[in-house]
Order: sequence, then structure tokens, then C-alpha cells
Amino acid sequence: MKTAVILSALISLNALPSAAGAFEDSLSSDNIFSAEVPAPPAPAGDETPGAAYSRYTAALNHYSEMAFRSEPGTEAYMEAYLAASYLRDRLEPLGGTAAAKSARIDLDFARPDAATLAEVADFFGWGQAMKDEQLSPPVTIKAGFATIKYVKGNTPFLVQGDSFLKRGEVILTFDDGPDTHGLTASVLESNAGSAPSIFFVLGSKLGPAGRAVIRDEAARGHEVSLHGYWHATETGKPFTRYSTEQVLADLGRTADLIKTATGKAPSFFRPPYGIIAPQALRAAIDRFGVTPMGWTVDTLDWSTKDPDELFEKTTSLIRQRGKGIVLMHDIHPQSVRVNARLIKWLGDNGYKVVNPEAAVRAFRGS
Ligand SMILES: [Zn+2]
Repeated sequence: MKTAVILSALISLNALPSAAGAFEDSLSSDNIFSAEVPAPPAPAGDETPGAAYSRYTAALNHYSEMAFRSEPGTEAYMEAYLAASYLRDRLEPLGGTAAAKSARIDLDFARPDAATLAEVADFFGWGQAMKDEQLSPPVTIKAGFATIKYVKGNTPFLVQGDSFLKRGEVILTFDDGPDTHGLTASVLESNAGSAPSIFFVLGSKLGPAGRAVIRDEAARGHEVSLHGYWHATETGKPFTRYSTEQVLADLGRTADLIKTATGKAPSFFRPPYGIIAPQALRAAIDRFGVTPMGWTVDTLDWSTKDPDELFEKTTSLIRQRGKGIVLMHDIHPQSVRVNARLIKWLGDNGYKVVNPEAAVRAFRGS
């Protein structure tokens, strides 16, 4: 409740142009914005935070297991990925609280309860999506490279191709940073020299400390690229609830912050949750000159806190596909630990971390 009040106060402050600078600068000095999205809606009725935590965690286990078992780009994967991402954002502010400690988690992977399903559907605007609903046909953004596929409720999902990579080649990507408490810095240490990576950052995390981190990313030869200003919108809705103009405004202020801090305009764009309407994506490509980028290996690194389990999952996914654009998050301790081991594992097993420039050539080439 307290967080919600502070957030809405800051958001309205941000609406005033004269206060915008002060607003940016306030971001890194406190921890309010370590959560990516505005505070969750008040739980229905008299639900306790512990009960909400249990409900979200049980549903997250269900959906992340489902996403892990399906191939990225398939309908089952996209639906599970979206639901799980929503639940992850809701759990983040509750993690580490008394609610988390007192929660009793039902681990039998039963179907999530009706209230949780309704919440997920409402967030993505899935409404009364029917089982045999008519989905729009896919829209090709660049043949073999990027396609918008429609999933439940006609949600447009960016599906990435990686045919431009040879077997054994990987591109490493890190979302939702920068973290200003050492996690991103650890990734930069592990990836120094041999593993140029793309960091898809959030504008709302680019206060002075955040800008110092991305300056360091760029100085070390990594790509600092566009994710969004917020992970969802200011109103806590995904990009698909925005007009194209609103999407461009959101990305524009994030691009400006990146350029100011690093001296270089961002080269890539990955929409939060991977969802964006084709016309908004095309407009972003034209306006900012970015290459759209999804992923082809989803480590689901937020679904477990156990680094050993995550390392096994990640390496088995990469081995299965033999190459890929790997999605991780430099905001979770387990991801950062696994990344360090992964860099070594890739080298020991004949994989090559390629410069993300390869993707720009694939997108721009004929
Ligand atoms: Zn993200």
C-alpha cells in the first residue's frame, strides 16, 4: 500500500516537465524502483499478502514449467511466458517480505486458481478469449529474422529467428537492468573481453547511478539498448495497451537517456514481455533506427533461485538448440552467478559468443 502511494506521487511529479530532471535523479538513490512495475492492484476482498504470495507462486510454477517445456515461438510457449512474466512482476515486490516467509506454497502444479487467471487475462487484455478464437495471421517484419505472431486474445508477440547464426554461435542478452547494487557490474566482469552482450535497459532505472552503469557497459564494448521506460506502462499495462505515439514517446525518453550517458544511440529494441503491435514496432524501427530483437533461448532465469538448477537448464537448452539468442536478466543474483559459469562452459564446449552486430547485418541485409 505504502509503495503504491509513493509511486503515484512520483508518477504525477514526472508529468511536470520542470520536475522531470529531479525525478530521474531521484530514481537511483532509493530502492522504490527496484520493482519494475507499479505496485500490484490491491488484493481482492480480505486476501492477505501471504495468501497472494502463495497464489502467485503456485501459478508461476505452473506457467514457468509450461514455458520451459515448450519451444519459444509456439503458442503454448508464448501464453505461458506472458502469464509467467506477469506473475514474476507481481511477486517481485513481495519477495523477501514477511508475506514470502509465511506463505504456504502448493507445489503440485495444479491449474492456477480462477482469480489469478482472471488477473492475468485482465492485464494482457485477453478478455473473454475463446478456446477456438480466430487469431490474426502472423505479420512478417523481416523474413527469417522477426515475425509478429498472435497469441491468446490476439496479443502480438515478437518471435525471433536465428538462422543468421551458425551452429555453435550464441548472442547473450540481459534484460531489465541496470542493477546498481553490483549485479550488472558482476556480469560486466564475467563478460569482459570475450563476450560482447546486449543490455536491454529500462529508462526508469537510469538515474545517475544507473547511467554510470550503462556508461561502463558501453565503454566495455557492449550494446546498451532499448527495452522500455517502465517494464509495463506508467499505468501498469503492457505496451499493447498504448497507442503507437505513446510507445514512441516512452522509447524516445529512454533512448535519450542512453545516448546522453553512453554517447551512442541504442542499436536494438526488445519490447517488454516481447509484445508489441506490428505498426508500433515498425514505427520504432523507423524512428530510432533500431534492430528488433526477441530471443530463441529462454533461460527462465527468474523461475528458480537455485544456481545449479538454472545452470543445468540453461546449458541443456543451449545444447538442444546448438546456438541461439539467449535471454537472461542482470537483476537476479542466480542469473549473475550462472552467467559467470556459462561463459566458461560455452568456451569449454566449443561455443562462440558472437558480436551482436551480426544481428544488425542480418536485419538490414537483403
Ligand atoms: Zn523485460
